[in-house]
Formats: sequence, C-alpha cells, structure tokens
Amino acid sequence: MMQVLKAPKMHMANRPRPLATAIRKSSHLQTVAEVVGQEAVPIVQYLKGKKNISEFKIAESIKAEVNSVRKMLYAMQTSNLVSYYRKKDRQKGWYISYWTLKPENFDYLALATKQQKLQQFKERLHKEETNEGLFYICPTLCVRLEFEKAAEISFKCPECGSTLQHQDNIKTIEQLRQKIGEIESKK
Ligand SMILES: [Zn+2]
Repeated sequence: MMQVLKAPKMHMANRPRPLATAIRKSSHLQTVAEVVGQEAVPIVQYLKGKKNISEFKIAESIKAEVNSVRKMLYAMQTSNLVSYYRKKDRQKGWYISYWTLKPENFDYLALATKQQKLQQFKERLHKEETNEGLFYICPTLCVRLEFEKAAEISFKCPECGSTLQHQDNIKTIEQLRQKIGEIESKK
C-alpha cells in the first residue's frame, strides 16, 4: 500500500482546471485505486458531477456496504479528494455525512504519486548501479546482500545457512531503467 499523500489546499487557487475533465482521465482512477483502494473507484465515478451526497445514498447507488463506503470516503478525505459536512437527521436522530468530490486535487495526487514512485525507483537504481556486480543472494531466496554485508557473514545465509551465490544485477538495472522511462513518459 502506498503512503497516502496530502494535497495542499493552497494549490487550489492557482489551478484553473476544468473540473469535469479533471477526473475523466483513467490515470486518475488508477491513482485513486493505488492510493486509496480499488473500492474507492466506483465511489469517485458515482460522485462525479454531484454535490453533497449522503454516504447512505452512495452505498445504495453503487451497491456496497455503507461501512466500507464510509471507510473509503474518509481515506479519500485524508488525500484531500473529497469534502463533507455532517448534519443531524431529525427523524433518525443520528448524524449523516454529505460528500462532494474535489476534482481539482486529483491532478495533484496523480502527479505526487508519480513523483514518489519515480523517486523510489531512482533510489533503487542508484543502489543497484553503485553495487553493480556486487550482490550476493541465497539460492532459496531468503536474502540478497551487498558484497560487504555478505562478506561479514562469510557468505552464509543467516536464515537457512546456505552458501550465498554471486548475482549479476545487470538485468535488474535494465528493468529499473525501463520502468523509470515508462513512468516518465506517462502523462
Ligand atoms: Zn537462505
């Protein structure tokens, strides 16, 4: 699970994006699925273009349990993708929350998620490149260590005692470079 990212509120003022188009991009739904969870996607699709919808109505409309809908809505709120207000229901006597999407923040979340991923892959690539040809791995895949750490334990796997084997990491480096290229070219 990815770390939840918060979109700063100050970005809203200088973001004159057409709201309706902002969430239509499939990459935005993908980001929601990655950051919040797959179950949040139908909620976003349902809330598009609507305002102040109660969690009960959302749950009924997308045929989901109200508790799981509520959980997703609060997770989305943590990423600043929705706003809500609570109102006491006079008949039932309890509070109901009414939800509205904040479409202008989906772009920010998508961008922040992309940057975070890129950074992680670049850090990983850097580690692989600076240790090129210096990785040792347990034949049953318990551990993968850099030369110095492997040497410290005399090339014996701390988990199962097998002798660590030298691993060529050229392929890993190539895969990471390819992955970084893919993310960078994605809009
Ligand atoms: Zn092992």
